[in-house]
Amino acid sequence: MDVSKLIEVRRALHQIPELGFEEVKTQGFLLEYINQLPQTHLEIKTWKTGIVVKVQGSDPVRMIGYRADIDGLPMDEETSYPFRSTHPGKMHACGHDLHMTIALGVLTHFSKAQPKDNLLFIFQPAEEGPGGAQPMLATDIFKKWRPDQMVALHIAPEYPVGTIATREGLLFANTSELFIDLKGQGGHAAYPHTTRDMIVAGAHLVTQLQSIVSRNVDPLDSAVVTIGKITGGTKQNIIAEKARIEGTIRTLSIESMQKVKQRIEALVKGIEAGFECSATIDYGANYCQVYNDQELTREFMNFTRNHSKVDLIECTEAMTGEDFGYFLEEIPGFMFWLGVNSPYGLHDNRLEPNEQAIEVAVTHLIDYLHYKSEN
Ligand SMILES: [Zn+2]
Ligand SMILES: [Zn+2]
Repeated sequence: MDVSKLIEVRRALHQIPELGFEEVKTQGFLLEYINQLPQTHLEIKTWKTGIVVKVQGSDPVRMIGYRADIDGLPMDEETSYPFRSTHPGKMHACGHDLHMTIALGVLTHFSKAQPKDNLLFIFQPAEEGPGGAQPMLATDIFKKWRPDQMVALHIAPEYPVGTIATREGLLFANTSELFIDLKGQGGHAAYPHTTRDMIVAGAHLVTQLQSIVSRNVDPLDSAVVTIGKITGGTKQNIIAEKARIEGTIRTLSIESMQKVKQRIEALVKGIEAGFECSATIDYGANYCQVYNDQELTREFMNFTRNHSKVDLIECTEAMTGEDFGYFLEEIPGFMFWLGVNSPYGLHDNRLEPNEQAIEVAVTHLIDYLHYKSEN
């Protein structure tokens, strides 16, 4: 493996972060790299800004899919890198530049050393939103090339380089965005009786939403309802006609997600009646849980314990969201965390993952895929 080449690739990708379904330069860069590989047993298809590459196995009994997400985030980079983002207001702050690089490293190996099973490399757009996994899975590509198993990783700033962490069953939570728009009747600050004040209604609603987790969710289950933004009104002496409440919901079970949403809808109806206004709820991007297949995860964990220099940690589930969950809803598989040792977390504009983790992941995935396709 040419590690310095992969680091170069990662830095080049880091400089061109693009948002969901706008990953045109990224797709171009990836295709240029993939087209330079020996093509004898590769087949390449594109879908929107995504790419799917099939590696034909020598004697396949199954197809194993590996998914890398390719989008960046809308934020201004503040790292100390000399190879910072050249796209103002956009940054690879979730490590998808590493995810792509690792996929290219593994693909490079198997383009030269033909595997026994078929492999499918999936470069998926729009993980951060509006969500690329679900529409991509619905394309003809996945009718023709249906993996029997899926694997993906996500970088983990909190673990040292050389660490892999995962668990059987639930790894990431169910998540949903939440946008509530309230509309009443604005007016003069001194004539409240002629208006329907949406600042007051919105404030009540935010307070009421706090009762869902404390009073409606089973204490032995877990959920989060966070309101991160409120906007409303135009001026200090005008009663606000509109208010907008923006937040996120996280739950450990699909049932709790449904329950939380039902309660939000009921409370919003109450606000409409109580404050004589109208309201709309938009759940924005919804990600289903990442649920690791028990048998495949156990096998991978045992392999990791016994067959490499990687440290394995059995982690707990996290309240983060990942649209890889949609792949796992249809195809058994698992996701794991890859330690990259950064003091700054995911979605922090100072995130500087340690690039040595690229070699760790590429080597481990190559070993695992060889093992898996020969057993
Ligand atoms: Zn992210
Ligand atoms: Zn991510």
